[in-house]
Amino acid sequence: VLAIAWIVFYLALVTTPLFVLLVEPRPPAAGFWWDFAIALGFSGAAMMGVQFVLTARFKRATAPYGIDIIYYFHRVLAVVTLLVVLAHPLLLLRENSGLLDLMHPVAGPWYITTGVWSLVAMLLIVASSVWRKALRLPYEPWRVVHVVLAVAALVLAGVHIEGVGVYVSTPWVRLLWVLIVASCVGVVVWVRLIKPWRLTRTPYEVTAVRPERGDAWTLAVAPRGHAGFPYQAGQFAWITLRSSPFAMREHPFSFSSAPSRPGTLEFTIKELGDFTRSIHTVRPGETVYVDGPYGAFTLNHASDAGCVFVAGGIGIAPLMSLLRALADARDTRRVVLIYAYRVWERLTFREELAALSSQLDLTVVYVLLEPPDDWTGERGLVTAALIARHVPVPRARLQYYVCGPTGLIAATERALGELGVPATQVHSEIFDLV
Ligand SMILES: Cc1cc2nc3c(=O)[nH]c(=O)nc-3n(C[C@H](O)[C@H](O)[C@H](O)COP(=O)(O)OP(=O)(O)OC[C@H]3O[C@@H](n4cnc5c(N)ncnc54)[C@H](O)[C@@H]3O)c2cc1C
Repeated sequence: VLAIAWIVFYLALVTTPLFVLLVEPRPPAAGFWWDFAIALGFSGAAMMGVQFVLTARFKRATAPYGIDIIYYFHRVLAVVTLLVVLAHPLLLLRENSGLLDLMHPVAGPWYITTGVWSLVAMLLIVASSVWRKALRLPYEPWRVVHVVLAVAALVLAGVHIEGVGVYVSTPWVRLLWVLIVASCVGVVVWVRLIKPWRLTRTPYEVTAVRPERGDAWTLAVAPRGHAGFPYQAGQFAWITLRSSPFAMREHPFSFSSAPSRPGTLEFTIKELGDFTRSIHTVRPGETVYVDGPYGAFTLNHASDAGCVFVAGGIGIAPLMSLLRALADARDTRRVVLIYAYRVWERLTFREELAALSSQLDLTVVYVLLEPPDDWTGERGLVTAALIARHVPVPRARLQYYVCGPTGLIAATERALGELGVPATQVHSEIFDLV
């Protein structure tokens, strides 16, 4: 119901400019397709604006869904927005092919070329995002270019609307468009300037860096000169280390610590690329900026019947936070942890999981991809049959928390569907935003 309400709200938002135009003194009708093309142009511009708001990480707005869902919609809507914006000149050309000369990106009049370049910027944004990995574009430079192109696309679209001047003849409609563009630029100023400035006022300091099994490191940080922020087990934060919060070099990591042990935040970080491979060189006393908490991968959904956690690799990090929180609360509910990893020796938190099994009603099922010769436990992939062997019935009454590589998440969600678990009881945390 909530999802439908949001879709209706979104449609209302992006069609509002059209209703405003209807009450305007209108130019003479120029045929359905011509007017439809103009309408698509206005709605496309409004859709571009909404994209900024979606990724501004407003905590209250994102809290019920989790940021991964919001980013998912941002990606889907970007493609829809591009199609809508692209249809605008194509339909106009269909009506009047003579417009092609005006659309020349260099020789055309400025009020048309701004629209053309806005469209080019949109195309670059979508192509560089959809094929970022295939094109081997490193995340951080990609992100800077993404923001610059997005602001350029919107401002150019605003200038194009104002320059063409159709349907924006009265000052108050002009004001509407200036306000739409200005509020999007305002969102960027908030995210890129005001928020980073606030982070510099509430720094954290590294208190420890501990090695863990499986090329992972636990980074412990404590607030320096302030009280920190409350968080829930399973949430995550963006951290900035050895860089300024203005530099857009932040990385998201789940808390592996439990909020029931206040004073220190812990993140367990697996070596993967430039940043994560540098964690072992970090020393106590270094400054860290922590922007959080975010995410909805929390025990709010937990049922009295118990929980099933499914982890793949470093996906154990937020589940460790949940397990530690349950242990600190002396929770008596049944928990089954299915933990998939390649090899036994590298299983992060293996020893602590053994200790937690004696504090909680916890069953840990290790699933190894490359088990040793004498291994008698589970092996291979997480399947419906494997889950059925270890999760007690009635399975549909339990809540499921899944975190790991996208392949494992998809396979687990499929397997749970086969076992009759409603999708609303499966909560996933994806470690991959783009
Ligand atoms: C919600 C969430 C929670 C996460 N929790 C953990 C955790 O607890 N432990 C852990 O080890 N990893 C976690 N990750 C993954 C972690 O953020 C990436 O592994 C890390 O940022 C990689 O940076 P790198 O420079 O070392 O690697 P790179 O080789 O530069 O990047 C590898 C991949 O990581 C992603 N990535 C890189 N930089 C960023 C960035 N600044 N922001 C977002 N994604 C980026 C991109 O998809 C990239 O292709 C989490 C990710 C998300 C989205």
